[in-house]
Amino acid sequence: MTAALPLSLFASERVYAKIYPQAVANNLAILKRALAREDGGDAPRVWATVKADAYGHGVAHIMAGLRAADGLAVMHLTDAHICRDAGWSGPILVMAGLAHASEIALLDMPDLHLLLSREPQLQWLAAAPALRATPTVWLRFRGDIGMVGFDAASYRSAYAQCQSLAGTGRIGGQIGHLNHFGSAERADGIDEACDRFQAVTHDLPGPRSTSNSAAIMRHRGHAAMNDWVRPGLTLYGASPLADRSAADLGLLPAMSLHARVLDIRTLAAGDRIGYGGNFQAPSPLTVGLVNCGYADGYPRHAPAGTPVMVAGQLTRTLGTVTMDLMTVDLTGLNADVGAPVVLWGDPKLPVERVAASMGTIAAELLTGLTRRVPLLTAPIS
Ligand SMILES: *Cc1c(COP(=O)(O)O)cnc(C)c1O
Repeated sequence: MTAALPLSLFASERVYAKIYPQAVANNLAILKRALAREDGGDAPRVWATVKADAYGHGVAHIMAGLRAADGLAVMHLTDAHICRDAGWSGPILVMAGLAHASEIALLDMPDLHLLLSREPQLQWLAAAPALRATPTVWLRFRGDIGMVGFDAASYRSAYAQCQSLAGTGRIGGQIGHLNHFGSAERADGIDEACDRFQAVTHDLPGPRSTSNSAAIMRHRGHAAMNDWVRPGLTLYGASPLADRSAADLGLLPAMSLHARVLDIRTLAAGDRIGYGGNFQAPSPLTVGLVNCGYADGYPRHAPAGTPVMVAGQLTRTLGTVTMDLMTVDLTGLNADVGAPVVLWGDPKLPVERVAASMGTIAAELLTGLTRRVPLLTAPIS
């Protein structure tokens, strides 16, 4: 429903997100440095995780920042085709593998890696016609999250079935082994999960991949011994660790979300504003009306007091977010009608901090922008 308007108008008057592929390139370099091995061995290769359209940043918008990635990890096979269309010619890991037997038709692509998590996927591959480009497969261990993947009892029989698929030319390359941690941000969060994965896979040949952003930043020694790692959040500049800020880790935000002050109201103590008079001023307040609401993806459940930046100054939200508007505290601030507002993504207003004060996580905010929010890409140098 967004008619073609000049981007300059969006950029000045409407909610928009700015996307920084240069930040993604910076964050990838930081990750690669963190993964260097002390024994001089080969550092792991990096699957840049771009599921959910690059965590809401738009794969095409950040592609220029991904040149140093060794592969891209997407959720669905259709996403792999979108990455190819956006110019990515390297390896692609499809984390949902095959969603249905009919997706066999989408496999005809070089350098495709399929993550298999369920028995039917093996049967669909076994029944597939001979493919011109044979996919490489990885097996997913159910791990400590316990949601998807082969459990300890079925993993090795899945591996044996993959070996016979390789024998009939349905798949190529070495069979990989993948685990995903549920508590990698904790100092003791991966030990048990590693032991269980190790017990099932220790004598099987093939590459291994265990580590997401939190595992790379918290457990560098373990992460560096992977053949491939799978960072997502850190690529986009958010810290995966509650006790380390993105700035501490050298990460730069790859998205900032922008709005404007539409109007300014002065409230006396006791005055109410919002649906149902839900906000009552405890003392005289200057209130800014900001043109961003839950229909843009700024959550309605954000409590009053969520940090926000107006004309470069940190302040807080007031009252309940509506579909198209929110209110912010301008008391004592230097801000006029038209003042620029940053909802998240300024280095002084990291998305993970905004998310924490709303009781959610950065990835939910980043992936939650709605279709009416245009993404404007900053040039890469
Ligand atoms: C999303 C995802 C990742 C990336 O996780 P981050 O915490 O964003 O780094 C890695 N592996 C799998 C299997 C995932 O689903």
